[in-house]
Amino acid sequence: MAKKTIDSVDVAGKRVLIRVDFNVPIDGGVIADDRRIKAALPTINNVIERGGKAILCSHLGRPAGQGYESKYSLKPVADRLAELLDKPVAFPSNDCIDEAAAEAVKNMIAGDVLLLENLRFHAGEKQGDTDFAAKLASYADVYVNDAFGTCHRAHASMVAVPKALVGKPRVVGFLVEKEIRYLSEALALPAHPFVVVLGGVKVSDKMAAIEHLLPKADAILVGGAMAYTFLKVMGKDIGDSRVEEDRLDDAKRAIDLAAKLDAELYLPRDHVCGKAFNDLGGGDIEVFGEHIKDGFMGLDIGPETQSEYTRVIGDAKTVVWNGPMGVFEWRPFMVGTHQIAKAIANVTDEGATTIVGGGDSAAAVEKFGFADRVSHVSTGGGASLEMLEGKKFEAVELLDDA
Ligand code: AMP
Repeated sequence: MAKKTIDSVDVAGKRVLIRVDFNVPIDGGVIADDRRIKAALPTINNVIERGGKAILCSHLGRPAGQGYESKYSLKPVADRLAELLDKPVAFPSNDCIDEAAAEAVKNMIAGDVLLLENLRFHAGEKQGDTDFAAKLASYADVYVNDAFGTCHRAHASMVAVPKALVGKPRVVGFLVEKEIRYLSEALALPAHPFVVVLGGVKVSDKMAAIEHLLPKADAILVGGAMAYTFLKVMGKDIGDSRVEEDRLDDAKRAIDLAAKLDAELYLPRDHVCGKAFNDLGGGDIEVFGEHIKDGFMGLDIGPETQSEYTRVIGDAKTVVWNGPMGVFEWRPFMVGTHQIAKAIANVTDEGATTIVGGGDSAAAVEKFGFADRVSHVSTGGGASLEMLEGKKFEAVELLDDA
């Protein structure tokens, strides 16, 4: 069921508590990447332009939960946000629920913006503590969840706060609305052929997604290090490639399930290999076909696999991609991931719906310049993978239906 969005709530003169994801990389007080701040602007602007009072809250990093720690302060974010909004952003205190914070919220007028200090300075945030949540909830006439990257967590600001606000509007922001629309629509009723591309390091991370998606997908294309656990089960020589020995049974189960469902499970048929795990592949890079020679490890999908995967993606009407095809951070092993990103951008131009799930694949489409040529790049790594596993998030479920 679609959720009510902030634009359908009357916010004039109201205190609107917006849970955002301002968990940005900060290096020596300088924000290295402000995309998450920019991504929250549509929701914030919508509230203040209609005379709401925007009270923003977020976590940043992993403080100990024992009070203020300067390196995890959201102060630099408040400053950057003020620049982006071109208006002052109040940052009242180093504790999100002390008297100074409560007083500053009380003194806000229509159109004001205020950012609370890092929620995780209180252990109660991660514990989902109801007393902590009650204090945050006391700031709000309206609650907005616009923090997709944290939606899979039952933390206080995500679950206990909206629970404490029963009877008041509890809605999603524009960012979360878009994530849910793409990630759950694509999965509920995908246009076929529906192709899923999975890569990255671990079978264990992706197994639940594979099992959930195999019955819906026409093809699953596997790349990255996780492919070698599958290939080992199939009796291929994988040399020194990375394998999860304790996941061979999982890989076997997925292969059997694919056969039973008549779903195509594609595995790499050739490999770009190096002799060592470094950016030069140990100075010796070779392409192997089905069997990799001892002493070499697979670090990218080879040219034949790239062509095959490109062809399958080219016929798709829906594509979901999570996880790189190789060690795309290093030039000799980035080609496979680049080719897949390009194929997904091209098929988007032809009208397919394409979704790139957070983390490394999102970084890859950015790096190769295709981020604007796919339907949706998810902002949440863990959260988007859990959506691919078919999980429901309490933090979203409990909000008002549209
Ligand atoms: P994940 O976080 O599981 O999505 O994995 C992403 C990481 O997998 C990236 O940092 C890649 O460098 C790495 N990766 C992809 N393919 C391989 C491979 N064949 N061997 C080792 N690491 C790989």
